[in-house]
Amino acid sequence: MNSGQFSVSSSNYMELIDITPQVGKEIAKSSIQNGICHLYNPHTTAGLTINEGADPAVRTDIIKALKEIIPFDLAYQHMEGNSPSHVLSSLFGCSEMVFIENNRLVLGTWQKIYFCEFDGPRTRKVLWRISS
Ligand code: ZN
Repeated sequence: MNSGQFSVSSSNYMELIDITPQVGKEIAKSSIQNGICHLYNPHTTAGLTINEGADPAVRTDIIKALKEIIPFDLAYQHMEGNSPSHVLSSLFGCSEMVFIENNRLVLGTWQKIYFCEFDGPRTRKVLWRISS
């Protein structure tokens, strides 16, 4: 199977969740040795990004900085009350693309793939498609 989805559960309002193991598992199950893995987040208050995974403080600092950059107390008009989450989703984007070599993800030494929760806690899904 070269496409599918998996779920991601967050436990905080804002959280960067390492999904590298799930993505690696889907690639390992596929028959693709060399190709591309596309990841897609179908949610309007979440995102995807690739960043450092060695020091967990990097994730904490990213969230800290985002809270400073995107104010929660602007006169937003969206009646649902989660406009900062929508803004963050657009800043991070809905997709990532990663190379596959020898049936494994090609990432930099310190890189991990993160699902970015901006309106949690809740359970989300990530869509993936692998092609050669
Ligand atoms: Zn909304």
